[in-house]
Amino acid sequence: MTLLDKAAAQPRALEHREIAELLAWPDARELFAAAYSVKEREVGRVVSFRGLIECGNACEKDCLYCGIRKGNGNVRRYSMDADEIVREAEWAFKAGYGSVVLQSGEISGGAHATFIEEVLRRVHGSCGEDFGVTLSLGEQDEETFRRWREAGAHRYLLRIETSNPMLYARLHPADHSWQRRLECLRALRRCGYQVGSGVMAGLPGQTTDDLAADIEFFASEDLDMIGMGPYIPHPDTPLGAGVEWTNEIKAKRLELGLRMIAVTRLHLHDVNIAAATALQALDPEGREKGLLAGANVIMPNVTDKAYRADYQLYAGKPCLGEDSELCRGCIERRIASVGETVNWNARGDSPHWRKR
Ligand code: SAM
Ligand code: SF4
Repeated sequence: MTLLDKAAAQPRALEHREIAELLAWPDARELFAAAYSVKEREVGRVVSFRGLIECGNACEKDCLYCGIRKGNGNVRRYSMDADEIVREAEWAFKAGYGSVVLQSGEISGGAHATFIEEVLRRVHGSCGEDFGVTLSLGEQDEETFRRWREAGAHRYLLRIETSNPMLYARLHPADHSWQRRLECLRALRRCGYQVGSGVMAGLPGQTTDDLAADIEFFASEDLDMIGMGPYIPHPDTPLGAGVEWTNEIKAKRLELGLRMIAVTRLHLHDVNIAAATALQALDPEGREKGLLAGANVIMPNVTDKAYRADYQLYAGKPCLGEDSELCRGCIERRIASVGETVNWNARGDSPHWRKR
């Protein structure tokens, strides 16, 4: 029995050194095929959509890698109003997406909490109780998480970014706390969300052992959804300025992102795994490759064209000039091209969560 067979046969049975061995598996195609067969068995050849609404790019944080960090003075800041967010959610609902993700920079405080709460109630009022709403609005206090859950959000994405607190400290200002992020993930669980987290792969100073530990972290925190992607430098950030970025480096970063998806699928089996847009920034077919490496969720952008260019986390964001209708047609064709079908009009909850 090879290590691939062992991983495919039983979930969460790998030791740290075995996860690291899989990440470095010499034949990437063999690795991806093994992960794909686990995905086929556990979730089918079906892709669930979440329409991504980039609600605003104002942020109180200053993560050293992110293009919309508060210290980047070259960003034109915007905040959608409630009507705009609700309109885009309704567009996604009518397009058959089954769910949306509301994402923005991190904003704290009561006024923002109330604003989101009202948006959630309106989205539920017009798109119905079964329409899925995932939030990706950063760290908040438990009371805010609870209010948003009660107002109708049922999934929350908060990447830990790296499971290594020392590496985290090198990527963030001193007042950004890894421990607080972890506590937020646990608070989200207590509030009854389907909890998603993830990491960036290819961070400066990150080792294969770090990435193996990330996958162990996904298991030990018993996450329902994994949203991870390759790290892509942004030239207007402390971490990305002046970084060499050749086609060769891009191809390696893409492969690393795909390997993380594959090994996560092989270790965890039944979670939802997103093929991140960052994969598509590295290769026009990056998301399809993500599906073939074991991902089962795609987040097509439904943000109004007028705002897309102002929400650039990294260099080379795709589909900046395309309207949502065009994106829908394009992504459906791409999914069919790899022999998968879209889970239209369904929330696409994580099978792991359904078994709870
Ligand atoms: N502000 C919220 C937060 O940080 O959780 C949600 C929005 S934030 C932009 C979403 C994710 O973007 C982060 O968790 C981070 O992993 C990712 N991101 C930021 N800069 C990136 C970069 N340069 N390359 C790849 N991903 C990046
Ligand atoms: Fe803000 Fe999120 Fe970017 Fe950090 S990653 S600067 S919290 S938007």
